[in-house]
Amino acid sequence: MVQIIYDYSTAVSSWSKRIDMNTIKFLGTAGARFVVMKQLRASGGIWLTIDWTHVLVDPGPGSLVRCLSSKPKLDPQDLEGIILTHRHLDHSNDVNIMIEAMTNGGFKKKGIVFAPRDALEDDPVILRYARAQVNRIEILKEKGTYQIGSLSFETPIKMKHGVETYGINIRGKDQSISLITDTDFFPRLPTYFTGDILVINVVMLEDRSNIEHLCLQDAEEIIQKNQPRLAILTHFGMGMVKAKPWELAEHLTKKCGVSVVAARDGMQIDLDQYKK
Ligand SMILES: [Zn+2]
Repeated sequence: MVQIIYDYSTAVSSWSKRIDMNTIKFLGTAGARFVVMKQLRASGGIWLTIDWTHVLVDPGPGSLVRCLSSKPKLDPQDLEGIILTHRHLDHSNDVNIMIEAMTNGGFKKKGIVFAPRDALEDDPVILRYARAQVNRIEILKEKGTYQIGSLSFETPIKMKHGVETYGINIRGKDQSISLITDTDFFPRLPTYFTGDILVINVVMLEDRSNIEHLCLQDAEEIIQKNQPRLAILTHFGMGMVKAKPWELAEHLTKKCGVSVVAARDGMQIDLDQYKK
């Protein structure tokens, strides 16, 4: 049974640093342009708290607002870093304001920002003045390994997604989490992302060969192959939103024999249930 803690279940306001659990929180579950621009789902990215380290992944439009309106409130100054899997707006729009918020308006130089090279060079999404506010910028590469606070992560393979994009495998003391971000399916994709908890960006309900995103069938194939302890579907495009992702997840749970949940905006999952 998956224990999900929703915003409304926690009435007491407190700052994120007081949470002594290992958690993943979905500040948004929107994927691709239309669900994002209409804000049918929020698009704030994922806030991870593992072994007391707070990291934000893919702060799309509204990330700051979603942090501050969370219950309990998430304090951006607690962040030790921000990871961009790629430069598309639904993943990077709020990166500059989140750098400012993490560093108390630039007055407290801190943190690391991780991004592919093409997010930093020609037509950069991370402003140059914002880069000066953090301790350092690290460039993501294929087969890279990185450290942030008490956790480490790897970018095992470059995704198939038009712009430079990396999926990530995060390791804490007792946790392993794989995030399969935007990509077209390719046969060896599942073999690179074998974390106990598997988060999959499922933009499309049905495969459309001209779009470099995963569809529901791809997600099923990955879950079947990898048999994670928990699979979480997120980053939904219009077709997925209309098809009621929670019902699709229930169907996959029965079909694959693995707990599958569809992320909802504000959903937080206690990772300690999935310790090795
Ligand atoms: Zn993308």
